[in-house]
Amino acid sequence: MEPSRFDVIVVGAGIMGSCAAHAACSRGAGRVLLLERFDLLHHRGSSHGESRTIRATYTQPHYPPMVRLSARLWEEAQAEAGYRVLTPTPHVDMGPRDGAALAAAISNGGAAEVVGGSWPWAGVFRVPDGWTAAVSEFGGVMKATKAVAMFQALAAKKGAVLRDRTEVVDVTKRGDGTIVVKTASGEEFHGAKCIITVGAWTTKLVKSVTGTDLPIQPLHTLICYWKAKPGHERELTVEAGFPTFASYGEPYIYSTPSMEFPGLIKIAVHGGPPCDPDGRDWSLGRPALVEPVAQWIDAVMPAHVETAGGPVVRQPCMYSMTPDEDFVIDFLGGEFGNDVVVGAGFSGHGFKMGPAVGRILAEMAMDGEARTAAEAGVELGHFKIARFVDNPKGNLKDSEDQC
Ligand SMILES: Cc1cc2nc3c(=O)[nH]c(=O)nc-3n(C[C@H](O)[C@H](O)[C@H](O)COP(=O)(O)OP(=O)(O)OC[C@H]3O[C@@H](n4cnc5c(N)ncnc54)[C@H](O)[C@@H]3O)c2cc1C
Repeated sequence: MEPSRFDVIVVGAGIMGSCAAHAACSRGAGRVLLLERFDLLHHRGSSHGESRTIRATYTQPHYPPMVRLSARLWEEAQAEAGYRVLTPTPHVDMGPRDGAALAAAISNGGAAEVVGGSWPWAGVFRVPDGWTAAVSEFGGVMKATKAVAMFQALAAKKGAVLRDRTEVVDVTKRGDGTIVVKTASGEEFHGAKCIITVGAWTTKLVKSVTGTDLPIQPLHTLICYWKAKPGHERELTVEAGFPTFASYGEPYIYSTPSMEFPGLIKIAVHGGPPCDPDGRDWSLGRPALVEPVAQWIDAVMPAHVETAGGPVVRQPCMYSMTPDEDFVIDFLGGEFGNDVVVGAGFSGHGFKMGPAVGRILAEMAMDGEARTAAEAGVELGHFKIARFVDNPKGNLKDSEDQC
């Protein structure tokens, strides 16, 4: 029997692949296939869970235009779905006053530095001496798994075929230009174009397909929820207007307001030890991912958050780190030319930009260029694979943190 033929085949159904499949359908691709190795909405990659933050305060100036494009596309998708996955909140950045990364983020994101006691959360955060804090009106919390499900549902509604429990083991190009996608069960799918969005598995798949070593390192990280101290439960909620926040320096700490588990607030450290996505240690003990957070809470939010007994809820997740923490968004090149596009290495800060990344990947695959990104002032040169050819660290920079 002749294998099924598609205009665009997307491999990997995390936030990036789900957004790319939706974008390809929205851009007029007649037949779109989204392939996922595990169950749809599984918890073994990077896009599952309760919440992710959105903010425009980025150390590198090339991210805020992408965040703003994404914010527009989040709104459009929610309008199309008829329900919301993104709740706007204020956002607070804080850290040592002399930190160049924080200063750049405040400036690039248009945040306003707060002075003395004249800001809404002065009674919550004990900002250490020598630190500064800045408030941005542009922030928010996305319901992660719900958002991935939304893009999958929208893609399916527009005619995309979704297949889970289908592991892709090879991608080749035939002489007539057809992209052949092979699965572990021996099935073949034929496509005019292919988009690879396999998260922490990218280095393995790209290596086996092209022989190219992409420097994308999976990390094991831990989401921790801590108990609000009695009497402060409501103050820390989205409904009370509490912000998302990031604390620069060592360790880099991030947080979303109390929302998913009443009385608990998510506060976690950005990072974790290297891991093999096919051989993970699922243990949740991890003192190195818990103790620095407890110490930070005791120093900065001692009256509001309880650390005795540790975090109440812990959830494992994976980052896919590039050496420069910039994304990889590029044509695979070689024999594939412009017919296969890869989106990976989102380095623990990609979720907010999922709809923009999906649109960019779909336009690159279908049109050979990402016009929407260019119109929005998004500079894609930073995300090319070739940046690692002459410099294994890619876009070398002196910033401490960019997540
Ligand atoms: C704890 C944590 C907190 C984060 N917080 C934020 C935040 O606040 N804000 C933010 O913007 N970002 C955040 N991020 C980062 C963001 O979640 C990731 O950048 C994003 O989810 C990456 O999505 P992805 O689609 O590339 O990868 P994934 O979600 O891992 O998707 C890849 C998919 O490909 C599938 N796959 C792999 N190999 C194959 C194969 N061979 N065949 C078929 N399918 C395959 C996998 O099973 C997986 O479903 C956070 C990440 C973590 C872990």
